[in-house]
Amino acid sequence: IVQVENVYKRYRLGEQEVTALSDVTLSIEPGVFLAIAGPSGSGKSTLLNIIGCIDTPSAGRVLINGHDVSGQTPDELADLRARTIGFIFQTFNLLPVLSAEENVEYPLLQLPELSKAERQKRVKHYLSMVGLRKYATHRPNQLSGGQRQRVAIARALATHSKIVLADEPTANLDRKTGENILRLMKMINRESGTTFVFSTHDRRVMNMADRLVRIEDGEIKALGMRKDDGWVFVQDRRDETEEDPEI
Ligand code: ATP
Ligand code: MG
Repeated sequence: IVQVENVYKRYRLGEQEVTALSDVTLSIEPGVFLAIAGPSGSGKSTLLNIIGCIDTPSAGRVLINGHDVSGQTPDELADLRARTIGFIFQTFNLLPVLSAEENVEYPLLQLPELSKAERQKRVKHYLSMVGLRKYATHRPNQLSGGQRQRVAIARALATHSKIVLADEPTANLDRKTGENILRLMKMINRESGTTFVFSTHDRRVMNMADRLVRIEDGEIKALGMRKDDGWVFVQDRRDETEEDPEI
């Protein structure tokens, strides 16, 4: 469903150049539940942003449903994003002047085929799913960090996107809420075949995935597939001295 081919991302900061991604190639099959793991600053958010067409690569290309996204007009790209990709940001990016329910409804307004009744039904459904039905009329500044996170998750799920990208979706949640949210995502993945790609530091979250990408210093070091209780690595460039043999 997504192909990332030889992607580089460089940032210029004055005289300095930072290479956030270096020759990243990755094929994401439809229906996978894929975790991107790696230390802080390794390029996880950069990679998610590029997959989600929020950012563009310095070199290389990204194909979504077989189409090179760099060949699309801004309108086509906006439509592709509205219909295909749901994004849960590390910093939520909720609209502060809108209530929880209005935030969830907002991207649905870009789908003209949905009636108002259908939109409202979805908003209710997804807010309930994340346990926030009682908070529908609260604005982001009237919600806790974890509640905001859950609004962002409801918003990403409500569009019924084929792909949901989530940047550390459980980082702001307590253990129990985080696990419930992950279970919910996993259930949607199983039932509707929605592809999930998420970054995480959290071992428990990683262990719910069926694919694992290990990224370090902007390079993919290992690609793992879940087999029974462990991981089978199809590509492995980890240092042999690395402390943690499991990931
Ligand atoms: P974390 O786990 O802390 O969220 P990450 O793996 O998501 O980290 P990125 O945010 O992708 O890491 O950053 C990768 C590298 O690119 C870092 O060295 C970072 O400083 C740099 N970087 C990211 N965004 C920018 C930017 N807009 N301008 C300059 N450098 C950037
Ligand atoms: Mg990040």
